[in-house]
Order: sequence, then C-alpha cells, then structure tokens
Amino acid sequence: DYRRGGYHAVRIGDAFKNGRYVVQSKLGWGHFSTVWLGWDTQKSRYVALKVQKSAQHYTESAMDEITILQQVAEGDPEDQKCVVKLLDHFKHSGPNGQHVCMVFEYLGDNLLTLIKYSDYRGLPIHRVKEICINILQGLDYLHRQLSIIHTDLKPENILLLSVIDPSKDPIKSKTPLILPNSRDKSSIESAVSRLNANMGRETSAAKRAILEREGIKMGSRSTRQNLLASADLRCKLVDFGNACWTHKQFTTDIQTRQYRCPEVVLGSKYSTSADLWSFACICFELATGDVLFDPLNGDSDVHFQDHLALMMELLGMMPRKIALGGRYSRDFFNKFGDLRHIRRLRFWPLNKVLVEKYKFSERDASELTEFLVPILDFVPEKRPTAAQCLLHPWINRIPCSLEPNQAQETQNSQKKRDKDEKEAMEIGMRN
Ligand code: ADP
Ligand code: MG
Repeated sequence: DYRRGGYHAVRIGDAFKNGRYVVQSKLGWGHFSTVWLGWDTQKSRYVALKVQKSAQHYTESAMDEITILQQVAEGDPEDQKCVVKLLDHFKHSGPNGQHVCMVFEYLGDNLLTLIKYSDYRGLPIHRVKEICINILQGLDYLHRQLSIIHTDLKPENILLLSVIDPSKDPIKSKTPLILPNSRDKSSIESAVSRLNANMGRETSAAKRAILEREGIKMGSRSTRQNLLASADLRCKLVDFGNACWTHKQFTTDIQTRQYRCPEVVLGSKYSTSADLWSFACICFELATGDVLFDPLNGDSDVHFQDHLALMMELLGMMPRKIALGGRYSRDFFNKFGDLRHIRRLRFWPLNKVLVEKYKFSERDASELTEFLVPILDFVPEKRPTAAQCLLHPWINRIPCSLEPNQAQETQNSQKKRDKDEKEAMEIGMRN
C-alpha cells in the first residue's frame, strides 16, 4: 500500500506543516490512513496526526470527513459530547502523491485493545456500562443534534481517554522529544535509537517500578485485571471517514461486517438506527470478549445468508416483510421468507447464550438481554434511540456498591482465578 495513491511513508522525526508537527511514534492505522503521535511545536502539546492515502477517492473521502468533523466540533464547544476533536488539517506532498492530513486531540487506546487486555473474557459489567454511556452520549449528539450517522461503529473506532497500561503510554515512555530543529540527520538518528531502546524493552524491574508508581501490583494476569479495575474509563467516538447525514448518504455499502445491521445486508434503506445495531454488538463484545455475530468472511450470497442465519438463531425469525423488503432480499430468501441455502436454524436466545456459554448469573444475563434485545430489533424503526437507551434502567440505575451476596460471589471467583493462575504458573515453571 506504500505506492502511488497509497499511504505516505512517515518516519519518526518527520515534520509536517512547515515543521509545526513532529512525528514521535505510530499510534495506529486503518484502511484509509496511518495515525501518528505528533508534537505540536506551536502549542506545545501532543496530537494525533492522521495521514490519508493519496488517491483521489481517499482525498475526496477525507474532505467529507473534515466537513463532518468541523460540524461535530462546532456543535460541541464545551467538549462534552464524547466525540473526537479535529484541531487542524492541511495537505502534505510526498513521493506517493498529495495526502490530506488531519490533526486531532491525542486520545488513548481503542476498545479492541481494552478487550484484548481482558484476555478476551470481557470487562466487569459496571465498566461495560460506563463505556456504553459515553458511546450513547456520542451517538445521541450525532443523531439528534446533527443528523449524522457514524456508519462504522466498532471497537477500533472508539478510543479511551487514557492508555490502559501506563508502561505502554507513548507520552510517558518517550522522553527524548524529537524536535524539528534538530535538523542534522545524526541527532535525529540518535534520538530515534534512544527512543527505540526505551520502547517495549523495559526490564521487568523497570516495568514493576512504573506500575508501582501507578499503584498497580505486579503479577501476570491479575496485573491486567488490576489495570482494568483501576482506570477511569471514559471514551470518545473517532473515525468519521465513512460518516454521512441522514439526508445525504454516500453509499449503501456501510459498516464493518460483524457490526453490520440486517437492513444494510439486505440492501434496504438505513438511518441512525444502523449505528444502534452496531452499538449493541459492541456492548455484547465488551461484556463477553467475543464478537456477537461472526459471519463467514466473503461477499457471496452464502456469506450474507450465514450472517442473517446467525442473527435469526439469536433473535428469532425475521418478519417476512423485512426479510423480503431489500434490494438483495430475493438472493437470500425464498418467497416464504426462508433462507435459500440454510435450512436448519439452531435457535439459541441471548439470555441462554449469556448463561450457558459465558457463565453469566441469571440476573446479569436477563438484565443485559432486556437492554440489548430491543436494540437488535429487525425493524429499524422499532429500535430505541440513543437517548432512549440512556434512560434504560440497565444504564441508568446508579451503579451503587455491589450487594453483599454479589460482592461475596466476586471475591470467591477472584480467589478461584488467583488459585488457577498460581497453578498455571507452577506448571509453567515445572516445564
Ligand atoms: P481509519 O479511517 O484509517 O480507520 P481511524 O481514524 O480509525 O482511521 O484511526 C486508525 C487508528 O488510529 C484508530 O483505531 C486508533 O487506534 C488510532 N487513532 C486514531 N485517532 C486517534 C487519536 N485521536 N488518538 C490516538 N489514537 C488515535
Ligand atoms: Mg478506523
């Protein structure tokens, strides 16, 4: 992808916009761009620098993204709406063409990283609620105030306001700040090598010191659990590269497969409720560590039918009118509303999945199910809005301290986990 029309090859120490932004390290990447930690020499602050691929198509999409981001920022001067702030934008010429660059406030890890930190077991339910509140606040703002549909809501596009593991915080660990006025190549190179030496190579004693400074006890898996327990988790929505307005849509082909709503799979019209479907998928994923729907990867009728079958196995049969109402409906369903290729559906409702597969208590499972199932309505108009979700008791009830018997349960399961872990370590040592 590093060729004409593709990514711009960014190196640590590169300066952008006549030396104003200096690249410190890589933060992430997507299909359209690479994203870098930058130092804003004018305002003396860290920023995230998103460098778009250069082909015409990417440039146009970046210009739309900027228009939307500007609108998003204008409507939120108090910075209360849980959406990322665009600070600046400009064009940068490189060997692969002209790249639109966007400068954002620097945020922390994305939610996929958080899920990985849970060892794909999911987060404690009160953490899930905290995150869901921020996502819904962001969506409510976009939908109700701006008529904007995000269209690509997924864990990678929701960022925490902090870094989960302080020892991996690029701001803390990168002491030698690389400045553009270190023009001579050798000083940049030596700074880069010092920086690389600092990265990811800390001795365990150094790591322990960093963690202890943060008040976190060291100890393999429980460290990660402590990290999850200690952070104050707030997040913001990012990546408006595919966003559109309810009255001005760019394409019918939206959303990342796993988070794609049925009306989009079927080629029916979509609106803000498409984001709520994705939200429900993310909420489940945060709570369990597993993706809710993981359809076969491919773009043939069979793959789309697999996705529809997974939805119906969890949520029951799709109303015939909905099933047959899309542009592609007849490719997937016969006239009775049955899938053409997949005959036997194995129904396994959400409540049971949570109890049987993810070992939720009956109560946690039924509470989460009551919250999620209405959002996963096959009829888009019937889904609650983000504002309505924020009023739901699952979200709204004050997460007061755990009730005595629950607290006991938690303690017992923690003890059991610690014991398992100790055993696993002992086995590891013996081998
Ligand atoms: P794309 O449109 O290419 O997917 P994104 O805007 O989603 O680009 O950014 C890609 C990744 O870069 C994100 O998943 C995230 O890990 C990282 N990232 C994006 N914006 C920021 C930011 N403001 N602060 C920190 N990291 C960011
Ligand atoms: Mg993205």
